[in-house]
Amino acid sequence: MPLHIVEHPVVHDALATLRDASTLPEVFRRMAVRISLLLAAEATRDVPSHPVSVQTPLGSASGRRVCAEVVVVPVLRAGLGMLDAVLELLPGARVGHIGLQRDELTAVASQYYSKLPADLRGSYVLMIDPMLATGGSAVAALDLLRVAGATNIRMICIVAAPEGVALVERHHPNVHIYAPAVDQGLNSHKFIVPGLGDFGDRLYGTA
Ligand code: URA
Repeated sequence: MPLHIVEHPVVHDALATLRDASTLPEVFRRMAVRISLLLAAEATRDVPSHPVSVQTPLGSASGRRVCAEVVVVPVLRAGLGMLDAVLELLPGARVGHIGLQRDELTAVASQYYSKLPADLRGSYVLMIDPMLATGGSAVAALDLLRVAGATNIRMICIVAAPEGVALVERHHPNVHIYAPAVDQGLNSHKFIVPGLGDFGDRLYGTA
């Protein structure tokens, strides 16, 4: 099953701060960047690279350079809180945006924006969306990526629910999901329990 649970203690330290209801947006944003960087490093372990030679002040050293055509796709709005961290690791990546709005009552996602780089065939695609809850928006976003030609996709999230993981697995069995935690499940409002609340609201202080 393409679900990768990231166990790194620093990831879990940041996650504990994100979960803590008393964490203020300023700290929440910092922790979102920290955890995203670490998760992205884990998710890109197999990103293609090629050998190079560089001159150090003392001589020649062999090294490696990332040579993949990487595309990062945040799912708006919460995914934006992870974008800078991923670009810090992969500054040459192109960025696509997918805007999905969750109906407050039904929790059904509808698309209001999509702007993706042309032709994703052959690209190494990282979709970033911190909360994998019902999986409805993740599947809708992954559908758009597939239509745009993406075949090599990893999804990075910060908290997942079993329902969301199962839905993504059913509709997109080849997509690898990277997350530090799969929580108990969803409440009647389709929020992850215990989760961390509304990620976008906590990131931007809009609660
Ligand atoms: N989106 C969030 O921000 N939090 C949840 O728990 C579920 C979806």
